[in-house]
Amino acid sequence: MKSREKVIIVGGGPVGLLCALNLATHDVPVLVLEAYSELFMDLRAGSFHPPTLEVMEPLGLTAKLLEIGIPVHKWQLRDREKGVIGTFELSLLGDETPFPFRLHLEQHRFTPIVLEQLRKIPHAEVRFSCRVEDVAQTGSGVRVSVQTPDGLEEFEGGWVIGADGGGSIVRKSAGIEFDGFTFPERFALISTTYDLGQHGFTDTAYISHPVEWCAVFRLPDQGPPGLWRFLYGCDPNESEQEALSEAVIQQRLQSVQPKPTPYEIVHRTIYRVHQRVATTFRNGRILIAGDAAHLNNPIGGFGLNCGLQDAMNLTDKLIRVIRETVSDDLLDRYVRQRRTANIEYVQESSIRNKRLLEETDESIRLSRLDDMRRASQDPSLAKAVLMRSSMIDSMRRANTII
Ligand SMILES: Cc1cc2nc3c(=O)[nH]c(=O)nc-3n(C[C@H](O)[C@H](O)[C@H](O)COP(=O)(O)OP(=O)(O)OC[C@H]3O[C@@H](n4cnc5c(N)ncnc54)[C@H](O)[C@@H]3O)c2cc1C
Repeated sequence: MKSREKVIIVGGGPVGLLCALNLATHDVPVLVLEAYSELFMDLRAGSFHPPTLEVMEPLGLTAKLLEIGIPVHKWQLRDREKGVIGTFELSLLGDETPFPFRLHLEQHRFTPIVLEQLRKIPHAEVRFSCRVEDVAQTGSGVRVSVQTPDGLEEFEGGWVIGADGGGSIVRKSAGIEFDGFTFPERFALISTTYDLGQHGFTDTAYISHPVEWCAVFRLPDQGPPGLWRFLYGCDPNESEQEALSEAVIQQRLQSVQPKPTPYEIVHRTIYRVHQRVATTFRNGRILIAGDAAHLNNPIGGFGLNCGLQDAMNLTDKLIRVIRETVSDDLLDRYVRQRRTANIEYVQESSIRNKRLLEETDESIRLSRLDDMRRASQDPSLAKAVLMRSSMIDSMRRANTII
């Protein structure tokens, strides 16, 4: 095989591994370079939306995820004082998708499934403990400089995909700007064994409050009954250590659902959160996808989904460019489609979702919640909310772009 055909993928996270699997399944040789010494146990994402399940189905991944994930058929919007504002039933999407639900599954349980499948393909190689330091374009290919346990090595290929997360060295090597902003508050993700379902919470629920807003999710963990996760913004004046202290966590969880004994905490992590979109997702033979190309706050569960949708869109096109010698202009269409979907839907909806939960002006907050209550009670309005929040609208919009 010519090295010009090989695609080097920087980052063995979910987006990089999915890019590799789709390419390798279609006979394109791939090399994945991952900085960590093994798959990272990333606690961040936990929900898969219908279009993501649809695009991964041909690779056999969706069936495997369905075996171990939790299908979530409805979600609630709540107010901390007033209780349930509205419940949105995803069965309203039954005519729009074969998967009219969200699937809850931890990100770190997705990556081993993809890796296992990839390891069965002889022309797919995944190297751990390989930190990419620079990417350069040669006349007809790319050269990637990598710090390995044996020292600095160089790899050559026809194309490189940067799936190396928000701090992407690939994006920086390509000179692509990453416009946007960073929120002053960090976001905490706390898992507990306590079952919120007994108090009427659906497996996804968003709880509005001007200071202590929160979202809760049930994740499968190692099987029933699973774990409940709380996601909330921390006080910007608190240090990370304070925010993750037992006292502060107990106070935040008790404020959502009081109980007589302390919550049992299984995981506690804290994240910086950004809203950023790269000015382009391509510079010649260098392409970027997933968090390397865009970042958003986690309310709505769009980030990983958007990245996985990028991965399939990009690699479907790259396969045609490499295997069918279609003009590489096709890759500019990837940029137009996925960048537009991110700006018009993911950025817009994630910012709007956060505002809905945290609004400090009580009259504005209550009026927005009233709009959502009305929408939940009217099937056509509810369906419009669900088409957007389930990412069906954004996928369809992207696919109309030529
Ligand atoms: C609190 C929180 C909750 C979230 N919840 C959701 C959710 O429910 N649903 C959802 O869709 N999204 C969610 N997200 C977003 C989601 O976690 C990310 O969008 C997703 O992890 C991006 O995947 P990725 O593969 O692009 O990048 P990453 O997961 O960041 O993977 C990048 C990989 O590249 C490797 N790497 C980095 N630099 C180099 C280098 N120089 N050389 C080699 N390897 C390198 C890293 O080690 C890593 O393995 C959440 C985010 C946060 C902060």
